[in-house]
Amino acid sequence: MSILISRKSYDDMLTHSMRSLPNEACGILIQDASSSEYDVHIHTFIPLHNHAAHPTREFSIHPVELLPYLTDKRRTVVGIFHSHPKAASIPSAEDLTTLWHTIPTYWILSLQQRENPDLQVYALKKTTTTAYHKLSFVIGQ
Ligand SMILES: [Zn+2]
Repeated sequence: MSILISRKSYDDMLTHSMRSLPNEACGILIQDASSSEYDVHIHTFIPLHNHAAHPTREFSIHPVELLPYLTDKRRTVVGIFHSHPKAASIPSAEDLTTLWHTIPTYWILSLQQRENPDLQVYALKKTTTTAYHKLSFVIGQ
């Protein structure tokens, strides 16, 4: 998968993460409808509030904040972003329980070394299968 992130998106992401300290920052990454030679082409970073109960070590995006972007036909949410104020930019056990695995890219910015921020991007796959069982029904008259 080829991925391009605009310089402005990167800068906005970094600024939002620094301002959110000591909390984890979060946001989404948007691709415009314009054509691109990249599979994922990030034009815009949208900072969102971290609604987690313990925002210094986890993040939570409120679906209501996300909804306007998910329903916008002209632009697509192609990435979920959050920062790790004190940890490396590797998904935590908590991160791997995410429900955002349907979004193609998952970005983590580590501010462990403030003068040398480390941004990494991942694709997450849900490994546990979804169970189902058959129900009965009748067709009424
Ligand atoms: Zn994390």
